[in-house]
Amino acid sequence: MKDEVILEVSELVKHFPIEQGLFARSTTKVHAVNGISFKLKRGETLGLVGESGCGKSTAGRTIMRLYEPTSGKAILNGKNLFELDTKEMLAMRRRIQMIFQDPYASLNPRMTVGDIIGEPLDIHRLAQGQKRTDRIYQLLETVGLNSEHANRFPHEFSGGQRQRIGIARALAVDPEVIICDEPISALDVSIQAQIVNMLEDLQDRLGLTYLFIAHDLSMVKHISHRIAVMYLGKIVELTESFNLYESPLHPYTQALLSAIPIPDPEVERTRQRIVLQGGVPSPIDPPSGCYFRTRCPKAMDICASQAPEMRDMGNEHFVACHLYSGK
Ligand code: SF4
Repeated sequence: MKDEVILEVSELVKHFPIEQGLFARSTTKVHAVNGISFKLKRGETLGLVGESGCGKSTAGRTIMRLYEPTSGKAILNGKNLFELDTKEMLAMRRRIQMIFQDPYASLNPRMTVGDIIGEPLDIHRLAQGQKRTDRIYQLLETVGLNSEHANRFPHEFSGGQRQRIGIARALAVDPEVIICDEPISALDVSIQAQIVNMLEDLQDRLGLTYLFIAHDLSMVKHISHRIAVMYLGKIVELTESFNLYESPLHPYTQALLSAIPIPDPEVERTRQRIVLQGGVPSPIDPPSGCYFRTRCPKAMDICASQAPEMRDMGNEHFVACHLYSGK
């Protein structure tokens, strides 16, 4: 992995206004993403992790312009994706693609697998006739399927196979970056490992860069080089994968890690789980100061009045918490 930054997201905000009544103009908003920043380095996998509703998928979809951003920047190859017009954004989708959690919902049930994979080739005018057919067969083989699958429909495949079809479709345009939006969450545990191994293999062979979104730290452990932990629309900790599992700093990360079962019965018996009190606050009306303070076992007075800034703890480790003063 090199240190070249391929995608830089700065202060990304996405709020959804809530419309109340037919003509009402409401100022109430869902604060889905509240100013997240990160750099994606060429060839790496950055895990973006947090509980359901923390804004991680919204962040991924906003970067792809499936939602329009409220503010912020996403610079890919020197261009701000949020300033591109429809035609320019379409062209940019050759460089950045997305795969989705529910492969069945994201594949058109009335199209054959060959046409699903061939559609991006048509949109970007990359191949026609026999060349198109050959490319579809090649993509099917790349994801562990074969040319006979091209004439079948999505419902004829298992969940794992459908995810492979979704990956083949994303690969059709030869992208540099793939946003993987919980690509294994809906799959059986035995299949999850196969998909993760395939994504790692593809990364090595094709030099891909992944933003890998997941709701559970155990899912991203093996695939991620670095991990960003999100809570209520903000990144609270960001560091190399090894650092995060060995020396988590943020109380929320510590709680998430303590919930992962350990596959050693001796160690598992003595595992101390940090049980967080209460539920995740509403993103319509997040708490003052640190958004995590209503559940944090270490909250102090300052946590209610001041939002903690992201602090550099050295060694590529960043944390947003008043317990740390940084360097
Ligand atoms: Fe807990 Fe305060 Fe740190 Fe927030 S800033 S995580 S409330 S100690």
